[in-house]
Amino acid sequence: MTFNELNLTPAILKALSLENYTSPTPIQEEAIPAALAGRDVLGCAQTGTGKTAAFSLPIIQLLSQQPAVTGGKRRIRSLILTPTRELALQIYENIQAYSKFTGIRSTAIVGGVSQKAQERALSQGADILIATPGRLIDLIAQKHVDLQYVQILVLDEADRMLDMGFIHDVKRIIAKMPSKKQTLFFSATMPSEISQLIKTLLVNPVKIEITPVSSTVDRIEQSVYLLQNGNKQNQLNRLLQDQSIVSALVFTRTKRGADRVTRDLAKINITAQAIHGNKSQNDRQNALRNFKSGATRVLVATDIAARGIDIDELSHVINFNLPNIPETYVHRIGRTGRAGMSGVAISLCEEEEIPYLKDIQKLIGKTIPEIKEHDYPMSKSTLALLNDRPAKAPAKPAAKSKANPPRKPKSEWFTQGNKPKSGANGSQGNRTGGYGKGAQGNRPGAAGGSANGSAASRPGARSNGSQGRPGGQSSPNRNGNKAPVNAGRTQ
Ligand code: AMP
Repeated sequence: MTFNELNLTPAILKALSLENYTSPTPIQEEAIPAALAGRDVLGCAQTGTGKTAAFSLPIIQLLSQQPAVTGGKRRIRSLILTPTRELALQIYENIQAYSKFTGIRSTAIVGGVSQKAQERALSQGADILIATPGRLIDLIAQKHVDLQYVQILVLDEADRMLDMGFIHDVKRIIAKMPSKKQTLFFSATMPSEISQLIKTLLVNPVKIEITPVSSTVDRIEQSVYLLQNGNKQNQLNRLLQDQSIVSALVFTRTKRGADRVTRDLAKINITAQAIHGNKSQNDRQNALRNFKSGATRVLVATDIAARGIDIDELSHVINFNLPNIPETYVHRIGRTGRAGMSGVAISLCEEEEIPYLKDIQKLIGKTIPEIKEHDYPMSKSTLALLNDRPAKAPAKPAAKSKANPPRKPKSEWFTQGNKPKSGANGSQGNRTGGYGKGAQGNRPGAAGGSANGSAASRPGARSNGSQGRPGGQSSPNRNGNKAPVNAGRTQ
C-alpha cells in the first residue's frame, strides 16, 4: 500500500515524501482511514511502530479542511497528551514536519522549562497542542489554555501515564473538553484503570493491534557478560575502548547510577552525558542533541527518561543494569537495529540480576549468547544459578524488591483480544517496533538475517471496526493491579 491510497491531501503527501516515507506502516494503514472517517481509535502499539504519524496525519488533514479561525481566534482543536517531555517534543517535531505545507499551527507545552515562551506561543494561537499533563493543568488553571474547542483528543502511551501517576491529571484535563469529540487512544498494555478510562472515553472504536515483531529483536546481535560483582564499570570501560562502537545508549536502573557511570567514563576520557528525570529539560535536550549529532559518543539514561526517544542510527545499546521487567529489555534493545539496520545489544549481568536474565530469555524465547573471554568472570557456583534455579525475583537488594511489586505473570499483561500469538515471542509485538526513517520495504520481518522472518513474525495490524463499545472483549486479564510498575523506583 502507498500513502496515496490513504486519501491524504497533496500537502501532506509532499511532506511525507520529504521525510522519505513511501509506504505506510501497518498501524498507519489501519488508523489513518479510520481516523479520517471520524472514528475513535484504540491502538495497542508502541513507539517505533509509526504511531505518531498514524494519529497526526489524520488530525492535520481533518483540521486543515476547516476554517483555521473562528470568532476571530485560532482555537486549540486537537490536544495530544503524552507522558514525557521528550515524547511531547518528538511528536511536536514530527507534526511540524508533516504539516509543513498546510496552514496548521502546533505548539508543545512541557514541564521543566520556563513557562513564559509557552504562554507566548499559546497567545498566538495553535490548532494542535501537544502537552504533558502537569504543565497543561497549570496553564489551564492560569487560563492560558482553553480546551472547549477540542474536537480530537489523542492519549498517547496511556499505560505509561498511569505508571507515572498522571492518570488523575488526565481525567481532570478530559473534563475540560467537550464530551462530544473524536478520541485516538494508544496504550501498549491494558491495565484495569486504562480499560475503565477507555470505556468512559471511546465510542465504538476501531481496534488496532500490532502483532508480534520478534524479528526486530532477532535482527539485533545480543550478548551478555556474566560478571563478578563490582566489575560492571571496568567492563564498560573496556567495551567502550573499542572505537568501532560509534554510538552507545547505556541504560542504568537509577538516576544516581546514570550520573556515576557518566562520571567514571569521563575519568577515562570517554565523552558521555546522562539523561534522567533530575536533569533540567535544557540539559536533557542538550544531551540528546549532542548524542544525535555525534558530539557525544555515549548517552547514559534511565528507562523513563529514554522512553520514546527516537535516535536513528544507534549502533549499540548497553544494559549496564538488567531491567527487572523483561519487556523493558525488548523495548531498550529495540532502539538499535532500526530502519532495517543491524544493531548490537550488550548486557552486563551480576549475580543478583541472574533471575532477570532468565526472565528475559524466557520472554524472547532464546538464550542470549554469553561472551566468556573477559577479565571478570563470575564464579562457577554463581554461574550454576543461571542453569539450575527457576526464575524468581532476587532476594537482594531488599529495598528494591519491596519497591517493585512482583510482576504479574506475562499472560495477564494482555487483553483477551491481544494475547501473544505464539509462545514467548508473541508478547514482544506489543512492546516494540522498529520503523525508522527510510525503513520502507525494509520492515522488520522482511529483513534478512531474521531468525524467524516468517510472515507470522512480521508486524501487522489487525483491526476490528465492528466490535461495538469496548466491553467484554477488552476487559483486562490483569486484575486491577493499580500499583505503578515503577513505583518507588528512582528513574
Ligand atoms: P513512532 O512509532 O511514531 O515513534 O515512529 C518511529 C520512527 O518511524 C520515526 O523515526 C518515524 O519518523 C518513522 N516512521 C514513521 N512512519 C514511517 C513510514 N511510513 N515510513 C518510514 N518511516 C516512518
